[in-house]
Amino acid sequence: MVATRGCTQILTAWERVYRFLRDAFPAAHYHQGRTLAAVAQDARAVTATFADGSKVEADLLVGADGIRSPVRQLLLPDLAPGYAGYVAWRALLAEQDFPSQLREEIFPFMSFGLPPGEQFLGYPVAGPDNDLRAGRRRYNVIWYRPADEHTTLIDLLTDSNGVAHDNSIPPPLIRKQAIDDMRDAAERFLGWQFRDIVRLIDEPILQPICDLESPRMAFGRIAIVGDAAFVARPHVAAGVTKAADDAAALAQALAHADNVEAGLKNFEAGQVAVNRRIIQRARHLGAYLQASQTADERANSARHGIPEAVLAETALPGT
Ligand SMILES: Cc1cc2nc3c(=O)[nH]c(=O)nc-3n(C[C@H](O)[C@H](O)[C@H](O)COP(=O)(O)OP(=O)(O)OC[C@H]3O[C@@H](n4cnc5c(N)ncnc54)[C@H](O)[C@@H]3O)c2cc1C
Repeated sequence: MVATRGCTQILTAWERVYRFLRDAFPAAHYHQGRTLAAVAQDARAVTATFADGSKVEADLLVGADGIRSPVRQLLLPDLAPGYAGYVAWRALLAEQDFPSQLREEIFPFMSFGLPPGEQFLGYPVAGPDNDLRAGRRRYNVIWYRPADEHTTLIDLLTDSNGVAHDNSIPPPLIRKQAIDDMRDAAERFLGWQFRDIVRLIDEPILQPICDLESPRMAFGRIAIVGDAAFVARPHVAAGVTKAADDAAALAQALAHADNVEAGLKNFEAGQVAVNRRIIQRARHLGAYLQASQTADERANSARHGIPEAVLAETALPGT
Protein backbone atom coordinates (compact mmCIF):
# COMPACT_ATOMS: atom_id res chain seq x y z
CA MET A 1 0.00 0.00 0.00
CA VAL A 2 1.55 3.33 -1.09
CA ALA A 3 -1.06 5.90 -0.08
CA THR A 4 -4.55 6.03 1.39
CA ARG A 5 -7.05 8.86 1.70
CA GLY A 6 -10.13 8.97 3.93
CA CYS A 7 -13.03 10.13 1.79
CA THR A 8 -16.58 8.73 1.76
CA GLN A 9 -17.75 7.81 -1.75
CA ILE A 10 -21.30 7.05 -2.86
CA LEU A 11 -21.33 4.50 -5.65
CA THR A 12 -24.21 3.03 -7.58
CA ALA A 13 -24.92 0.93 -10.67
CA TRP A 14 -26.65 1.86 -13.90
CA GLU A 15 -29.44 -0.70 -13.35
CA ARG A 16 -30.40 1.02 -10.09
CA VAL A 17 -30.40 4.57 -11.52
CA TYR A 18 -32.35 3.39 -14.58
CA ARG A 19 -35.06 1.73 -12.44
CA PHE A 20 -35.75 4.93 -10.47
CA LEU A 21 -35.93 7.05 -13.63
CA ARG A 22 -37.95 4.51 -15.62
CA ASP A 23 -40.52 4.09 -12.84
CA ALA A 24 -40.98 7.88 -12.63
CA PHE A 25 -41.67 8.23 -16.38
CA PRO A 26 -45.25 7.49 -17.60
CA ALA A 27 -45.25 4.20 -19.54
CA ALA A 28 -47.66 5.64 -22.15
CA HIS A 29 -44.93 8.05 -23.32
CA TYR A 30 -42.12 5.52 -23.56
CA HIS A 31 -41.90 3.97 -27.06
CA GLN A 32 -39.32 1.23 -27.36
CA GLY A 33 -38.08 -0.30 -30.60
CA ARG A 34 -38.46 2.82 -32.75
CA THR A 35 -35.38 4.06 -34.56
CA LEU A 36 -35.11 7.71 -35.47
CA ALA A 37 -34.08 8.06 -39.12
CA ALA A 38 -34.39 11.79 -39.95
CA VAL A 39 -35.36 15.17 -38.53
CA ALA A 40 -36.58 18.30 -40.30
CA GLN A 41 -37.82 21.65 -39.01
CA ASP A 42 -39.40 24.88 -40.13
CA ALA A 43 -40.57 27.99 -38.29
CA ARG A 44 -43.75 26.18 -37.15
CA ALA A 45 -42.61 22.73 -35.96
CA VAL A 46 -39.99 19.97 -35.97
CA THR A 47 -40.73 16.56 -37.53
CA ALA A 48 -39.09 13.27 -36.53
CA THR A 49 -39.22 10.46 -39.09
CA PHE A 50 -38.70 6.90 -37.86
CA ALA A 51 -37.25 3.87 -39.68
CA ASP A 52 -40.74 2.34 -40.04
CA GLY A 53 -41.80 5.47 -41.98
CA SER A 54 -43.94 6.93 -39.18
CA LYS A 55 -43.63 10.66 -38.41
CA VAL A 56 -44.15 12.74 -35.26
CA GLU A 57 -44.53 16.51 -35.35
CA ALA A 58 -43.69 18.56 -32.23
CA ASP A 59 -42.65 21.98 -30.90
CA LEU A 60 -39.31 20.63 -29.69
CA LEU A 61 -37.01 17.68 -30.38
CA VAL A 62 -34.34 16.68 -27.83
CA GLY A 63 -31.57 14.42 -29.14
CA ALA A 64 -30.59 12.43 -26.03
CA ASP A 65 -29.33 9.66 -28.28
CA GLY A 66 -25.86 8.96 -26.99
CA ILE A 67 -22.26 9.10 -28.21
CA ARG A 68 -23.12 8.09 -31.83
CA SER A 69 -26.16 10.42 -31.81
CA PRO A 70 -27.98 10.25 -35.17
CA VAL A 71 -29.45 13.70 -34.38
CA ARG A 72 -25.99 15.23 -33.91
CA GLN A 73 -24.72 13.52 -37.06
CA LEU A 74 -27.52 15.16 -39.05
CA LEU A 75 -26.80 18.60 -37.56
CA LEU A 76 -22.99 18.49 -37.19
CA PRO A 77 -21.94 15.92 -39.81
CA ASP A 78 -18.20 16.69 -39.53
CA LEU A 79 -18.01 16.10 -35.78
CA ALA A 80 -17.17 12.64 -34.36
CA PRO A 81 -15.87 11.27 -31.04
CA GLY A 82 -12.06 11.37 -30.84
CA TYR A 83 -10.01 8.41 -29.56
CA ALA A 84 -8.06 9.39 -26.43
CA GLY A 85 -5.05 7.08 -26.94
CA TYR A 86 -5.90 4.42 -24.35
CA VAL A 87 -8.37 1.63 -23.69
CA ALA A 88 -10.09 0.30 -20.58
CA TRP A 89 -10.33 -3.37 -19.78
CA ARG A 90 -13.45 -3.73 -17.65
CA ALA A 91 -15.26 -6.43 -15.68
CA LEU A 92 -17.96 -6.87 -13.03
CA LEU A 93 -17.12 -9.51 -10.41
CA ALA A 94 -19.32 -11.19 -7.80
CA GLU A 95 -18.39 -10.31 -4.21
CA GLN A 96 -18.87 -13.94 -3.22
CA ASP A 97 -16.00 -14.97 -5.53
CA PHE A 98 -13.51 -12.80 -3.63
CA PRO A 99 -11.16 -14.73 -1.32
CA SER A 100 -11.61 -13.55 2.30
CA GLN A 101 -8.41 -11.43 2.55
CA LEU A 102 -9.26 -9.55 -0.67
CA ARG A 103 -12.85 -9.13 0.47
CA GLU A 104 -11.72 -7.47 3.70
CA GLU A 105 -8.77 -5.42 2.44
CA ILE A 106 -9.89 -4.32 -1.03
CA PHE A 107 -13.57 -4.91 -1.74
CA PRO A 108 -15.09 -2.11 0.45
CA PHE A 109 -12.77 0.58 -0.92
CA MET A 110 -12.19 2.50 -4.12
CA SER A 111 -8.69 1.19 -4.85
CA PHE A 112 -6.11 2.22 -7.43
CA GLY A 113 -3.10 0.34 -8.87
CA LEU A 114 -0.70 2.62 -10.73
CA PRO A 115 1.86 0.95 -12.97
CA PRO A 116 3.78 3.69 -14.89
CA GLY A 117 1.47 5.28 -17.49
CA GLU A 118 -1.47 3.07 -16.52
CA GLN A 119 -4.29 3.02 -13.98
CA PHE A 120 -6.12 0.09 -12.41
CA LEU A 121 -9.27 1.01 -10.47
CA GLY A 122 -11.84 -1.04 -8.57
CA TYR A 123 -14.86 -0.32 -6.35
CA PRO A 124 -17.99 -2.05 -5.03
CA VAL A 125 -21.41 -1.59 -6.68
CA ALA A 126 -24.87 -3.10 -6.12
CA GLY A 127 -25.38 -6.75 -7.01
CA PRO A 128 -28.04 -8.29 -9.30
CA ASP A 129 -31.53 -6.81 -8.61
CA ASN A 130 -29.85 -3.85 -6.89
CA ASP A 131 -28.87 -6.03 -3.94
CA LEU A 132 -26.80 -4.03 -1.43
CA ARG A 133 -26.36 -6.80 1.14
CA ALA A 134 -22.81 -7.89 2.01
CA GLY A 135 -21.90 -10.96 0.00
CA ARG A 136 -24.39 -10.15 -2.80
CA ARG A 137 -22.71 -7.06 -4.22
CA ARG A 138 -20.41 -6.78 -7.23
CA TYR A 139 -17.01 -5.22 -7.82
CA ASN A 140 -16.39 -2.98 -10.82
CA VAL A 141 -12.94 -3.29 -12.39
CA ILE A 142 -11.40 -0.80 -14.85
CA TRP A 143 -7.82 -1.01 -16.12
CA TYR A 144 -6.68 1.87 -18.37
CA ARG A 145 -3.81 0.94 -20.69
CA PRO A 146 -2.21 3.00 -23.49
CA ALA A 147 -2.95 1.67 -27.01
CA ASP A 148 -1.63 3.39 -30.13
CA GLU A 149 -4.50 4.19 -32.49
CA HIS A 150 -2.79 2.85 -35.62
CA THR A 151 -1.26 -0.38 -34.24
CA THR A 152 -2.29 -1.75 -30.82
CA LEU A 153 -5.88 -0.48 -30.96
CA ILE A 154 -6.51 -2.02 -34.39
CA ASP A 155 -5.05 -5.28 -33.12
CA LEU A 156 -7.25 -5.25 -30.01
CA LEU A 157 -10.38 -4.51 -32.05
CA THR A 158 -9.70 -7.29 -34.59
CA ASP A 159 -11.67 -10.45 -33.81
CA SER A 160 -10.64 -14.08 -34.27
CA ASN A 161 -12.09 -14.08 -37.83
CA GLY A 162 -9.79 -11.18 -38.77
CA VAL A 163 -12.65 -8.67 -38.82
CA ALA A 164 -11.49 -5.23 -37.64
CA HIS A 165 -14.23 -3.48 -35.62
CA ASP A 166 -14.48 0.30 -35.68
CA ASN A 167 -15.29 1.72 -32.26
CA SER A 168 -15.90 -1.25 -29.97
CA ILE A 169 -15.81 -5.03 -30.01
CA PRO A 170 -18.43 -7.39 -28.47
CA PRO A 171 -16.81 -9.19 -25.48
CA PRO A 172 -17.25 -12.74 -26.91
CA LEU A 173 -15.35 -11.66 -30.06
CA ILE A 174 -12.22 -10.36 -28.28
CA ARG A 175 -9.32 -12.59 -29.37
CA LYS A 176 -7.98 -15.04 -26.76
CA GLN A 177 -4.46 -13.76 -27.47
CA ALA A 178 -5.48 -10.18 -26.62
CA ILE A 179 -6.98 -11.37 -23.32
CA ASP A 180 -3.95 -13.56 -22.57
CA ASP A 181 -1.65 -10.55 -23.17
CA MET A 182 -3.72 -8.49 -20.72
CA ARG A 183 -3.56 -11.29 -18.13
CA ASP A 184 0.19 -11.62 -18.67
CA ALA A 185 0.62 -7.85 -18.16
CA ALA A 186 -1.39 -8.12 -14.92
CA GLU A 187 1.06 -10.72 -13.59
CA ARG A 188 4.02 -8.49 -14.48
CA PHE A 189 2.82 -4.98 -13.62
CA LEU A 190 0.13 -5.14 -10.90
CA GLY A 191 0.33 -5.57 -7.12
CA TRP A 192 -0.78 -8.93 -5.68
CA GLN A 193 -4.31 -7.70 -4.83
CA PHE A 194 -5.03 -6.61 -8.39
CA ARG A 195 -3.32 -9.67 -9.89
CA ASP A 196 -5.74 -11.81 -7.85
CA ILE A 197 -8.67 -9.69 -9.04
CA VAL A 198 -7.67 -10.08 -12.72
CA ARG A 199 -7.50 -13.86 -12.17
CA LEU A 200 -11.20 -13.72 -11.16
CA ILE A 201 -12.21 -12.15 -14.51
CA ASP A 202 -13.95 -14.55 -16.83
CA GLU A 203 -15.02 -12.50 -19.89
CA PRO A 204 -13.56 -8.95 -19.90
CA ILE A 205 -15.03 -5.97 -21.76
CA LEU A 206 -12.76 -3.75 -23.86
CA GLN A 207 -13.63 -0.04 -24.13
CA PRO A 208 -11.58 2.35 -26.29
CA ILE A 209 -11.70 5.68 -24.43
CA CYS A 210 -13.09 8.58 -26.50
CA ASP A 211 -14.29 12.10 -25.92
CA LEU A 212 -16.37 14.60 -27.82
CA GLU A 213 -16.87 18.36 -27.65
CA SER A 214 -19.72 19.91 -29.64
CA PRO A 215 -19.57 23.60 -30.54
CA ARG A 216 -23.36 23.90 -30.21
CA MET A 217 -26.28 22.28 -28.38
CA ALA A 218 -29.21 24.25 -29.88
CA PHE A 219 -30.37 24.24 -33.50
CA GLY A 220 -33.65 26.12 -33.83
CA ARG A 221 -36.22 23.76 -32.28
CA ILE A 222 -33.72 20.94 -31.77
CA ALA A 223 -31.43 20.47 -28.76
CA ILE A 224 -28.76 17.83 -28.15
CA VAL A 225 -27.99 16.79 -24.57
CA GLY A 226 -25.83 14.33 -22.62
CA ASP A 227 -23.40 12.16 -24.58
CA ALA A 228 -24.98 13.27 -27.86
CA ALA A 229 -23.32 16.67 -27.31
CA PHE A 230 -20.36 16.10 -24.95
CA VAL A 231 -18.57 12.92 -23.93
CA ALA A 232 -16.00 13.13 -21.13
CA ARG A 233 -13.28 10.59 -20.49
CA PRO A 234 -14.39 8.47 -17.50
CA HIS A 235 -12.00 9.95 -14.87
CA VAL A 236 -14.45 12.65 -13.81
CA ALA A 237 -17.27 10.05 -13.46
CA ALA A 238 -19.62 12.71 -14.82
CA GLY A 239 -21.36 10.98 -17.76
CA VAL A 240 -24.70 10.40 -16.09
CA THR A 241 -24.57 13.54 -13.92
CA LYS A 242 -23.87 15.85 -16.81
CA ALA A 243 -26.64 14.27 -18.92
CA ALA A 244 -29.07 14.87 -16.02
CA ASP A 245 -27.71 18.41 -15.54
CA ASP A 246 -28.29 19.16 -19.26
CA ALA A 247 -31.88 17.90 -18.95
CA ALA A 248 -32.55 20.03 -15.84
CA ALA A 249 -30.98 23.12 -17.45
CA LEU A 250 -33.06 22.60 -20.60
CA ALA A 251 -36.29 22.36 -18.59
CA GLN A 252 -35.37 25.54 -16.66
CA ALA A 253 -34.47 27.48 -19.78
CA LEU A 254 -37.72 26.50 -21.53
CA ALA A 255 -39.78 27.38 -18.45
CA HIS A 256 -38.39 30.93 -18.44
CA ALA A 257 -38.48 31.66 -22.19
CA ASP A 258 -41.19 33.16 -24.41
CA ASN A 259 -40.70 30.55 -27.11
CA VAL A 260 -38.81 27.29 -27.80
CA GLU A 261 -36.02 28.83 -29.88
CA ALA A 262 -35.24 31.49 -27.27
CA GLY A 263 -35.28 28.84 -24.53
CA LEU A 264 -32.83 26.64 -26.44
CA LYS A 265 -30.48 29.59 -27.05
CA ASN A 266 -30.37 30.34 -23.30
CA PHE A 267 -29.85 26.66 -22.53
CA GLU A 268 -26.93 26.50 -24.98
CA ALA A 269 -25.34 29.69 -23.63
CA GLY A 270 -25.05 28.12 -20.15
CA GLN A 271 -24.38 24.46 -20.87
CA VAL A 272 -21.72 24.62 -23.60
CA ALA A 273 -19.34 26.35 -21.18
CA VAL A 274 -20.09 23.95 -18.29
CA ASN A 275 -19.61 20.89 -20.50
CA ARG A 276 -16.38 22.22 -22.02
CA ARG A 277 -14.90 22.56 -18.54
CA ILE A 278 -15.84 18.95 -17.71
CA ILE A 279 -14.29 17.64 -20.95
CA GLN A 280 -11.07 19.64 -20.37
CA ARG A 281 -10.76 18.45 -16.77
CA ALA A 282 -11.16 14.80 -17.85
CA ARG A 283 -8.55 15.25 -20.62
CA HIS A 284 -6.16 16.75 -18.08
CA LEU A 285 -6.60 13.83 -15.65
CA GLY A 286 -6.27 11.18 -18.36
CA ALA A 287 -3.36 12.64 -20.34
CA TYR A 288 -0.75 10.48 -18.59
CA LEU A 289 -2.48 7.33 -19.90
CA GLN A 290 -2.21 8.30 -23.59
CA ALA A 291 -0.04 6.25 -25.96
CA SER A 292 1.42 9.52 -27.27
CA GLN A 293 1.62 12.84 -25.49
CA THR A 294 2.50 16.43 -26.29
CA ALA A 295 5.30 18.09 -24.28
CA ASP A 296 2.67 19.80 -22.08
CA GLU A 297 0.89 16.53 -21.48
CA ARG A 298 4.17 14.85 -20.53
CA ALA A 299 4.83 17.57 -17.94
CA ASN A 300 1.25 17.16 -16.72
CA SER A 301 1.78 13.36 -16.45
CA ALA A 302 4.60 13.79 -13.98
CA ARG A 303 2.26 15.72 -11.68
CA HIS A 304 -0.98 13.77 -12.14
CA GLY A 305 0.17 10.15 -12.53
CA ILE A 306 1.48 9.84 -8.96
CA PRO A 307 -0.60 8.05 -6.30
CA GLU A 308 -1.25 11.10 -4.08
CA ALA A 309 -2.51 13.13 -7.07
CA VAL A 310 -4.71 10.32 -8.43
CA LEU A 311 -6.34 9.85 -4.99
CA ALA A 312 -6.84 13.58 -4.44
CA GLU A 313 -8.11 14.35 -7.94
CA THR A 314 -10.31 11.34 -8.73
CA ALA A 315 -12.20 11.01 -5.45
CA LEU A 316 -14.30 13.83 -4.05
CA PRO A 317 -15.65 14.05 -0.51
CA GLY A 318 -19.18 12.60 -0.21
CA THR A 319 -21.93 14.82 1.15
C1 LIG B 1 -18.60 0.87 -20.27
C2 LIG B 1 -19.10 2.23 -19.79
C3 LIG B 1 -19.10 2.54 -18.43
C4 LIG B 1 -19.57 3.76 -17.96
N1 LIG B 1 -19.54 4.04 -16.62
C5 LIG B 1 -20.02 5.22 -16.16
C6 LIG B 1 -20.01 5.54 -14.77
O1 LIG B 1 -19.55 4.75 -13.95
N2 LIG B 1 -20.51 6.75 -14.37
C7 LIG B 1 -21.02 7.65 -15.26
O2 LIG B 1 -21.47 8.73 -14.84
N3 LIG B 1 -21.04 7.38 -16.58
C8 LIG B 1 -20.55 6.20 -17.05
N4 LIG B 1 -20.54 5.95 -18.39
C9 LIG B 1 -21.03 7.00 -19.29
C10 LIG B 1 -22.57 7.01 -19.28
O3 LIG B 1 -23.05 5.71 -19.62
C11 LIG B 1 -23.04 8.03 -20.30
O4 LIG B 1 -22.39 9.27 -20.11
C12 LIG B 1 -24.55 8.25 -20.15
O5 LIG B 1 -25.24 7.01 -20.35
C13 LIG B 1 -25.03 9.28 -21.17
O6 LIG B 1 -26.42 9.33 -21.14
P1 LIG B 1 -27.24 9.76 -22.42
O7 LIG B 1 -28.69 9.67 -22.01
O8 LIG B 1 -26.72 11.05 -22.94
O9 LIG B 1 -26.94 8.66 -23.56
P2 LIG B 1 -27.15 7.09 -23.55
O10 LIG B 1 -27.26 6.54 -22.16
O11 LIG B 1 -26.12 6.53 -24.45
O12 LIG B 1 -28.60 6.91 -24.21
C14 LIG B 1 -28.81 7.13 -25.59
C15 LIG B 1 -30.11 6.42 -25.99
O13 LIG B 1 -30.45 6.80 -27.33
C16 LIG B 1 -30.90 5.64 -28.01
N5 LIG B 1 -30.73 5.82 -29.47
C17 LIG B 1 -29.57 5.93 -30.17
N6 LIG B 1 -29.82 6.05 -31.49
C18 LIG B 1 -31.19 6.05 -31.63
C19 LIG B 1 -32.09 6.15 -32.75
N7 LIG B 1 -31.66 6.29 -34.01
N8 LIG B 1 -33.41 6.10 -32.51
C20 LIG B 1 -33.90 5.95 -31.24
N9 LIG B 1 -33.10 5.85 -30.15
C21 LIG B 1 -31.76 5.90 -30.34
C22 LIG B 1 -30.04 4.52 -27.45
O14 LIG B 1 -30.67 3.27 -27.65
C23 LIG B 1 -29.98 4.90 -25.97
O15 LIG B 1 -31.07 4.36 -25.25
C24 LIG B 1 -20.07 4.72 -18.88
C25 LIG B 1 -20.10 4.42 -20.25
C26 LIG B 1 -19.61 3.18 -20.71
C27 LIG B 1 -19.64 2.89 -22.20
